[in-house]
Amino acid sequence: MDPKTHHNRKIRSKAHATALLFLSALFLLLTSCGKEEAPATETGEVRETPVIQIKEAEESNAVSESGDPAEEEQDEPEGQWDADEEFYITEITDEIFARIEGKSFKEDCTLPREDLRYLHVLHKTLEGETKEGEMVVNVHIADTVLKIFRELYESDYPIEKICLVDEYNADDERSMADNNTSCFNFRFVPNTKRISKHGRGLAIDLNPRYNPYVVPKDGGTDISPDNGKEYADRSQDFPYKIDENDLAYRLFTEHGFKWGGAWKNEKDYQHFEIPNEQIREWYDQ
Ligand SMILES: [Zn+2]
Repeated sequence: MDPKTHHNRKIRSKAHATALLFLSALFLLLTSCGKEEAPATETGEVRETPVIQIKEAEESNAVSESGDPAEEEQDEPEGQWDADEEFYITEITDEIFARIEGKSFKEDCTLPREDLRYLHVLHKTLEGETKEGEMVVNVHIADTVLKIFRELYESDYPIEKICLVDEYNADDERSMADNNTSCFNFRFVPNTKRISKHGRGLAIDLNPRYNPYVVPKDGGTDISPDNGKEYADRSQDFPYKIDENDLAYRLFTEHGFKWGGAWKNEKDYQHFEIPNEQIREWYDQ
């Protein structure tokens, strides 16, 4: 067979597979966020409208124009991930520092850059897709956090996104609203000189949109992120929900973290942090 024809066919079938994968992922996404009751047969036609067609067209264009196998690879890593290679820790290199400087690593950051580490991880989405994740954490918890996220990955624990908060310009609300899992973001506790535990890279927010921060306020409650309001009622069942039977809860607490969902007044369901006693030991304060 003409190797070129073979190559093209391979590309085409790959494009087809990509489109199929995309369609199923999108379908799952549409049906997973509190809309399970809607029967697919009745709504399928409405849902499969322009967005999908455009995306499909883009995909085939992109592939048919590209004769470059390297580009092909880039488009579709397809689950050949080697966890031993993908889970790693580095220092904050100049390249990484350039990404966080002035954002999560603010001008007044009192934490030395040497106290932070960059983590590269893999995670599974709710649809079972493997994705890469990046996190900046305190050097004292780097190994532990890497281990926890590896176990979560190997147990197919769903995490939607693990991006640096700097991709949201270090805006916590935007990161939470996008259901982004993250750790380091330098800041003081409001109206104090105390550094927040995220400011030391010693607290992690996991799937925050579905595990919001709920604070009693003026007889009511203040919930963040704003689009996490419907998940403040923890008697419901929904994807990404963290409770005391949850694997993430078990792993973090086994490794010495405290869960914000167990606090008395405020409830921070997304939040796992290192307790003060441990921090005092590390930082001799
Ligand atoms: Zn938090």
